[in-house]
Amino acid sequence: MGQVRVRFAPSPTGPLHIGGARSALFNWLFARHYGGTMIIRVEDTDLDRSTVEYESMILDSLRWLGLDWDEGIEVGGPHGPYRQRERLEAYRPYIEKLVDEGKAYLCYCSEEELEEERAALMAKGEMPRYLGRCSKLTEKERNELCAAGRKPALRFRVPAGKLLVVDDLVRGRVEFESDGIGDYIIVKSDGIPTYNFAVVLDDALMGITHILRGEEHLSNTPRQLLLYEALGFSVPLFGHISLILGEDRSKMSKRHGATSVVQYREQGYLPEALVNFLALLGWSPEGEEEIFNSDELARQFSLERVSKSPAVFNFEKLKWMNAYYIRQASLDRITGLCLPHLQQAGLVEERVPKERLAWLTRVVATAQEKLEYAEQITGLVKVFFGETVELCDTDEEAAQVLALETTPAVIKALMAEARSFTEWDEDTVRKALKEVGKKLNIKGKALFMAVRVAVSGQSHGPDLNALLALLGPDLAAKRLSYTLSKL
Ligand code: GLU
Ligand code: ZN
Repeated sequence: MGQVRVRFAPSPTGPLHIGGARSALFNWLFARHYGGTMIIRVEDTDLDRSTVEYESMILDSLRWLGLDWDEGIEVGGPHGPYRQRERLEAYRPYIEKLVDEGKAYLCYCSEEELEEERAALMAKGEMPRYLGRCSKLTEKERNELCAAGRKPALRFRVPAGKLLVVDDLVRGRVEFESDGIGDYIIVKSDGIPTYNFAVVLDDALMGITHILRGEEHLSNTPRQLLLYEALGFSVPLFGHISLILGEDRSKMSKRHGATSVVQYREQGYLPEALVNFLALLGWSPEGEEEIFNSDELARQFSLERVSKSPAVFNFEKLKWMNAYYIRQASLDRITGLCLPHLQQAGLVEERVPKERLAWLTRVVATAQEKLEYAEQITGLVKVFFGETVELCDTDEEAAQVLALETTPAVIKALMAEARSFTEWDEDTVRKALKEVGKKLNIKGKALFMAVRVAVSGQSHGPDLNALLALLGPDLAAKRLSYTLSKL
């Protein structure tokens, strides 16, 4: 393959959506696979909805995912600027060319007139489109409309009776009829080009070779093809990636769960897990293996294995995959990931002293195997915080064990045993429990479960020795006597 140049061109009208992230990823994988160039361009021609905050959020999300770029916004390059609003000058000669050649004309129609036309077509069961009212205006008529204060937009004159063919890299041959399109606006009355126009100019001027984007843009492609032709640009290859659906097979939306990359980041997903998961949304590797880092993905990626059918976003699978990466990650990294959640829940202070951090790391270690995403940490380690013990009221087993005749004696014996400790760790705790069992001639549930419930209020939770060891002598003693006082 010749020099590959691909781009991801987000509109900064919201945070980076998982669909956008997947498009960015596929472009990135494609570029990295062929040693090509990845370009990031910002399509901010929607003046009302674009913001710089969204732009930096999107770039942040891309960086967090590890999707770097060789050319474009922030990093620069030979085809800049990479923000459409800063490229208006570059568009001007092409606008003039289309007007001079009669391929575009000024349209003075008001919003009301256009709406009327749309409504009339729809009432007849026809596709709403512009029927060309201004396509044959004389200079005199134009001057009159201008004098009446009408601000014109520029429309592209769609040639009649043309068959437009996209040889899509993913979807195969797709055909469109130019007659269904209607002359469309390429420059709005405020002088700002529309997406369909700016995207063609930018892709052509930036030498983009492959346009890989979401299926929702397929219907724009015939309009863009017409512009490539009218401007005499060579046409890049197109590949439209299938939609992402929720499990009910409707288009993925907020109803299904988090839809933006920042939300997953905030919930405590790891970027490598999200990248791995998104790569498999529409692309499939050759073997059975499902766990890949981004280098491995780039090595294996090919458009031939990108599916035509929609991809279903399976939250359970994402959680499973994230849990896998959490287990693989270093404990320090996972502690860092969990810390903000513990702080938010008020369990940990804003500034954590070194010793407390060491303790916290051991606490997180008890949960690392079970954690699917960092936000779950609070529920999993709550048991390590606080002096009192609240019996979990849905936990019947806990209540039963606490009500055993032998339980007060177990608690007292353990407290007595603990007083002789010089050290307090898992080993001494284990020995003490054994000693208590021997002395009282109690074993199994009546011993271990009783202690567990007495210190935690629950019949389940982290390893009992680890729990006691991490609570430490003071907290353990306080909780045991608290429970005893309630019996
Ligand atoms: N700015 C467009 C979007 O965010 C990108 C369109 C394209 O890739 O051509 O959907
Ligand atoms: Zn008009």
